[in-house]
Amino acid sequence: MAEHGGSALFVGHGSPMNTFEVNRYTTAWREVSAALPTPRAIVAVSAHWYIDGTAVTAMAEPRTIHDFFGFPDELSRFEYPASGDVNLANDVVSLLSPFDAVPDTTDWGLDHGTWSVLAHLYPEADIPVVQVSIDARATFDTHVHIGASLAPLVDDGVMVLGSGNVVHNLGLIDWSMIDSGFEWAKKFDDEVRRIITTQLYNLSSIRDHQLFGSVAPTPEHFIPLLYIAGLADEAKKPLSTFAEGYAFGSLSMTSYVMRS
Ligand code: ZN
Repeated sequence: MAEHGGSALFVGHGSPMNTFEVNRYTTAWREVSAALPTPRAIVAVSAHWYIDGTAVTAMAEPRTIHDFFGFPDELSRFEYPASGDVNLANDVVSLLSPFDAVPDTTDWGLDHGTWSVLAHLYPEADIPVVQVSIDARATFDTHVHIGASLAPLVDDGVMVLGSGNVVHNLGLIDWSMIDSGFEWAKKFDDEVRRIITTQLYNLSSIRDHQLFGSVAPTPEHFIPLLYIAGLADEAKKPLSTFAEGYAFGSLSMTSYVMRS
């Protein structure tokens, strides 16, 4: 069996229906996982676990959480039966002790930000998964620092996955724009790409961008990218896009992977 290897990536997850769809994004997700070394475990930071504090799922069998409504029954019945990894969870709690991280044994599990993507990256659900919550009280700089603190995991054969969307404004969704984006969404997405490719360390300054309130009326879908940026900066490795595009006008599907 091949050796395990670590990696880091941010996936723009878009609609939860991507779980079942074959489109250019889900195809790119499958291709990136095929190109990366197989991790021994996955640590996922999903936009959909946004709470007051940094918690780490530490149950042996995390449940599949169906944290959405208004989608077909088949999505509410979907199960992603990956195991947890209690030892890894405890390691992550230790790495994040400066941020008062705590283990979670009862509350969360795997939410659709994580499993809608992993359904394509690892459809067999045969790699253990640990989720880390986003502390809603933390500054962007703190999120970058938390991400940097996760860098040793990559050297230890772990995939660190951020799942969100660079642009995510559900209130402005235009269902007729199936595969295209508003100009302001593209402008912001371009600026993020510029910062990531030229001054990665500076990504948290994007909070002050004049378009930030439009692209992210609430910041939870943007924040997972800060973790991956902080990690890549700490590892002194570049991020590059592996999927680009827009959905329904106000969602960016742009995704980044750390290059070695
Ligand atoms: Zn989402």
